Amino acid sequence: MRMTIDPRTIRRPTMIQPFRTRRRTFFASLAGLPGLHLLASEGRAAPREDARTPAAGRDVIGELGVRSFINAAGTFTALTGSLMPPEVVSAIQVAARKYVRLEDLHNAVGARIAELLGCEAALVTAGCASALSLATAACVAGDDPERIRRLPDTQGMKDEVLVQRTHRVGYDHAIRNAGVRMIEVETREELERAISDRTAMMFFFNAADPRGQIHREEFIEIGKSHGIPTLLDAAADVPPVDNLWKYTKMGFDLVGFSGGKGLRGPQSSGLLLGRKDLIEAAKLNNSPNSDSLCRTNKVNKEEIVGMLVALERYLQLDHDAIWKEWEGRCHRIIEALSEFDDVQTEIYVPEIANAVPHLRIRWDSEKRGIRPSEAVEKLRNGDPSIEPSPGSGRRDVVIGVWMMEPGDDAIVGDRLREILAGA
Ligand SMILES: *Cc1c(COP(=O)(O)O)cnc(C)c1O
Repeated sequence: MRMTIDPRTIRRPTMIQPFRTRRRTFFASLAGLPGLHLLASEGRAAPREDARTPAAGRDVIGELGVRSFINAAGTFTALTGSLMPPEVVSAIQVAARKYVRLEDLHNAVGARIAELLGCEAALVTAGCASALSLATAACVAGDDPERIRRLPDTQGMKDEVLVQRTHRVGYDHAIRNAGVRMIEVETREELERAISDRTAMMFFFNAADPRGQIHREEFIEIGKSHGIPTLLDAAADVPPVDNLWKYTKMGFDLVGFSGGKGLRGPQSSGLLLGRKDLIEAAKLNNSPNSDSLCRTNKVNKEEIVGMLVALERYLQLDHDAIWKEWEGRCHRIIEALSEFDDVQTEIYVPEIANAVPHLRIRWDSEKRGIRPSEAVEKLRNGDPSIEPSPGSGRRDVVIGVWMMEPGDDAIVGDRLREILAGA
């Protein structure tokens, strides 16, 4: 017999118990983090992992009839990324009622983030893509006012960025914005031969590391020995939390993260971390300076404050307990499908980028009378609407559990069971 679950009884943000435990283990594992004392104030409540606390105010999305959904996908920009936790939203609301000199806030928040993460300097950016543009502008135009004004016209400036062929990524458009050419190489020899007085920067796409011949430490060493700054795109690479300081300590001159993915800050926020001189140059190429390349990448006080609060919260989370909760969500969905002997389930964790438990579900399409693409449509068009991982539909359905709210796993499991039963 099948039980139908009423979503309204399940989605209440009271089911957050697992996140309150085992903080000590977490702090022990962070012993090497320099700025941690800034967060370790006794008696502070452990952050809670719920975002659907009812908010006062107009529901514009509802008024317009734009459909919302259960996020069974992950942190995808086209699906609006992640939900900001209540403490982030409330800090934004407070900030929204005050004027500040933008530069003062950028500097104060940047200094605080640098201290928390043990890097030289930090800047809140308009997403990781913006961090890539700012990093490139800093490496090409530096702090020279005339050059800053001229970008993306790079005449007379270093205008080449070296990249391993396997590290090309759609997001490098944000690098090319600065007027540079991407020069592709494969081996160490090719890379060293490609370095010239036109080389502005060397770019490394973190998630592509296993596919390239030159790995992180060797890449950094080559950059350092030739005096070329290295930039790492680690946009989707928290968790694990220690990536937030690992790569700057490893020696990358600049590292970019998304603020609105695993960190759950504003979706239009990000971090550029690294060398002080380059971060200072990035600021000069940034909003609010009107005649600069990245004037288009504005962040205002709300994103800046939201990014900081999200980061502080993230550093305090009990990551072991959250990981167990994610696995628990996978297991509860697997359990919901246990009556079907042809349904195969697999929990997998990508090695880098979105490195969290995902659930892959396969079945005998003929026996069930439904193909994966049809199941995806049914998930999407049901009530509530459920959005599985964008990779779903060809051979399987992939459920990303980490952006679910408490209770969503039961709804998703129930709905999948209905669909696979041919209901
Ligand atoms: C998401 C992503 C970006 C862009 O990050 P935003 O924060 O959305 O600007 C850049 N690079 C990679 C590899 C990404 O996954």
